[in-house]
Amino acid sequence: MSGVDSGRVVVTGGAGFVGSHVCERLTRSGIPVSCVDNLVTGTRRNIAHLEGGSGFEFIEGDVSSSGTLREISGPVGAVLHLACPASPIDYLRLPLETLEAGSSGTRNALELARRWNARFVLASTSEVYGDPLVHPQPEEYWGNVNPVGPRSVYDESKRYAEALVAAYRRTYGLNTGIVRIFNTYGPRMRAGDGRVVPTFIRQALAGEPLTVAGDGSQTRSLTYVDDTVDGVLAMAARGPAGPVNIGSSEETTVLELAQRIIGLTGSASVIEFVDRPVDDPGRRRPDTSVAREELGWRPRVDCAEGLKRTVEWFSRSSALESPE
Ligand code: NAD
Ligand code: UDP
Repeated sequence: MSGVDSGRVVVTGGAGFVGSHVCERLTRSGIPVSCVDNLVTGTRRNIAHLEGGSGFEFIEGDVSSSGTLREISGPVGAVLHLACPASPIDYLRLPLETLEAGSSGTRNALELARRWNARFVLASTSEVYGDPLVHPQPEEYWGNVNPVGPRSVYDESKRYAEALVAAYRRTYGLNTGIVRIFNTYGPRMRAGDGRVVPTFIRQALAGEPLTVAGDGSQTRSLTYVDDTVDGVLAMAARGPAGPVNIGSSEETTVLELAQRIIGLTGSASVIEFVDRPVDDPGRRRPDTSVAREELGWRPRVDCAEGLKRTVEWFSRSSALESPE
């Protein structure tokens, strides 16, 4: 027996943006959680409200080191592997650590799941499709990734992680699942993490120009964090191997997003066009048929509501005081 209902759930990367929401949701459901994080891009502030509560433990450690996950006592019902730098500015400053998180980190997390015969879920990414030549992207599309470009440290790390997970399933019969998460946003993103939503909100609230890359015609399908967490937990609870796309079907250009955030914040900020990053994907939108059919998942929070909640959170929180 394996799954979120049959023992402790280990969440690697649980002190990060998405991971902290996963830990919170599990803890609220009365499921014991071990959160493992080396705080390289996460922060203990994200889980401060969970610490000290019954059933929640924080283990500070690097999942890429072989000893860290060996310390965990069981029984473990599920391992949700989210540990990995995820924002372009983070993985570009931590290239080797990012590759390690996908390789050794994933292998160590898989071994933990194997030891306890636990369900294993990998948080993969829409970046495995690279700069896609097929639109929208179904799971069977193999992608268009530059293997030696700067983004490859993230894209190839996740592609290798997916290959490892598939090999553990084939070789050991491990109960594994892969979710490919599309651009997720919401409360607890670092104001300075460089991703588009927190950057534009920080700039708009400060009255600074919003830095739109290129002409802003590139698209993303922005997914509110509560919907992403629903997808991760549905994957943990149900049996499919995946990969399964988890992402909104509401595709927006970066320029539209900037204008929307200026409107939502009532800011007097202007738009400044800046250089486009190397290999920046041009269009991205998931085909979510598999998520709907196999997980019963669909996004519930549209962009208007999600952005409103996120702007409110940034306006209220201390995140803007030290936007590192
Ligand atoms: P994040 O940077 O906020 O969270 C990552 C967490 O992992 C951080 O707390 C960090 O300290 C921790 N971590 C990194 N390397 C580690 C290591 N070696 N050992 C232990 N902890 C480590 O990023 P996020 O947006 O919350 O992303 C979480 C996961 O979801 C990542 O695996 C990411 O690739 C995936 N994902 C996120 C998005 C998104 O839009 N947010 C999209 C696709 C995939
Ligand atoms: N982007 C932008 N201005 C910024 C930050 C990002 O125009 O200040 C663009 C970026 O070039 C990309 C899109 O927004 O086209 C999404 O970028 P993000 O880093 O959030 O996610 P990813 O590139 O991983 O999809």
